[in-house]
Amino acid sequence: MFDKGMFDKILIANRGEIALRVHRACREMGIQTVAVHSTVDADAMHVRLADESVCIGPAPVRESYLNMHEVLSAAIITNAEAIHPGYGLLAENAEFAAMVEEHGFTFIGPTADHIRMMGDKIAAKEVFKDLGIPVVPGSDGAVGDERAALAAARKMGFPVMIKAAAGGGGKGMKRVDSAEQLAEALIAARGEAMASFGSDEVYIEKFLTHPRHIEVQILADTHGGVIHLGERDCSLQRRHQKILEETPSPALNPEEREQICGLVTSAIAGLGYRGAGTVEFLYEDGAFHFIEMNTRLQVEHPISEMVSGVDIVREQIRVAAGLELAYRQEDITLSGHAIECRINAEHPETFAAAPGLVRDYHPPGGLRVRVDSALYAGYRVPAQYDSLISKLIVLGANRNECLMRLRRALEEYVIEGIPTTIPLHRRLIAEPDFVNGDYDIHWLENWIEATA
Ligand code: ADP
Repeated sequence: MFDKGMFDKILIANRGEIALRVHRACREMGIQTVAVHSTVDADAMHVRLADESVCIGPAPVRESYLNMHEVLSAAIITNAEAIHPGYGLLAENAEFAAMVEEHGFTFIGPTADHIRMMGDKIAAKEVFKDLGIPVVPGSDGAVGDERAALAAARKMGFPVMIKAAAGGGGKGMKRVDSAEQLAEALIAARGEAMASFGSDEVYIEKFLTHPRHIEVQILADTHGGVIHLGERDCSLQRRHQKILEETPSPALNPEEREQICGLVTSAIAGLGYRGAGTVEFLYEDGAFHFIEMNTRLQVEHPISEMVSGVDIVREQIRVAAGLELAYRQEDITLSGHAIECRINAEHPETFAAAPGLVRDYHPPGGLRVRVDSALYAGYRVPAQYDSLISKLIVLGANRNECLMRLRRALEEYVIEGIPTTIPLHRRLIAEPDFVNGDYDIHWLENWIEATA
């Protein structure tokens, strides 16, 4: 019934909904799971459901979930064979991936070299450019001093965006509208980059005024198999952080979809990449511009699963075990429309973090409704971690049906005790521009401001 050569036991180096997501895939594949957790997460759902669990330290992530030695020790004492990093935390840490493999475990993800390559966004742009992918116009490499930055900015014309080479999570990014603002923004961006990523290397891109964020989900095995699962539109962002994602993008026609997904698939084959990955673009006036590649499972992966029927985590595990992908491109049919709402433990108007006790909990259900969450009634959302507490994912035969179902599901969702962003989503999906699919990456922030 289960695959030969498959792992017997996997350690999940994460927490919250994504740890549960990975656990579920393992369980369905007949694989035992090991949860790791901090002291404040002792009662967390991912710990309760796993076959075994190991406490790896106190609440601060640096002392627990980001402590590579503790995570590895947990794998050693539990005899796990492989480690799934989820997203965030250690998922894109090349040093950790290398360490895992050096200790004889399998890292469920790409090679450390590919993680390192894509972690440097300047290098990644070069790599994709060489593979025939159009990139956002920008400085050739890192910018040195203010004069070099000014020369680069003048060449492409203001406004420009200063970005951290090692950036992620929307940090270290600064829009600059004129030469006068550049010096100050450069210092601020470098400072933020240094504090967040330990490197103050920055580069400059043309600031695109009305793009959409379009990303392509790919999966690759070590036998030359590469498939894509279509694109996701993640343009609805606040502070460069995604709030709601949908697939297919309302902005693309079938030819454009075919074109970009085909280009990405060939580029990934050219790289010899393995595992799941996402290639991100800004799309403006009919043209795609590469911005970065994420070498991991994404928060928004479930919408691609909903329209393709492919379990992305299962494929990640298969590929890591050296098996072929269970699908070829011609086996994949993308059908229907899926939307994900990220639900955060935040005040829906001020976005202030709002951890605390969940007094009552009733998730929506019914046909084609999926809730990826580690919440339960009586659970205390800790203050130390990311505010994402649930993902509501809905599938419809088409976008209209998807929206009707989403409206119903959001109405049904009850989380009591702490404020959440559910009211924001209820409001957002009633907005005519959203209903018409008429939005770009700047739309949500303008709308929040205008309706505050
Ligand atoms: P991160 O790795 O921090 O997520 P990205 O390069 O993926 O950074 O960019 C995140 C978001 O920032 C994009 O989805 C987009 O909304 C915005 N952004 C990035 N580059 C540009 C640009 N050149 N012009 C306008 N917006 C941009």
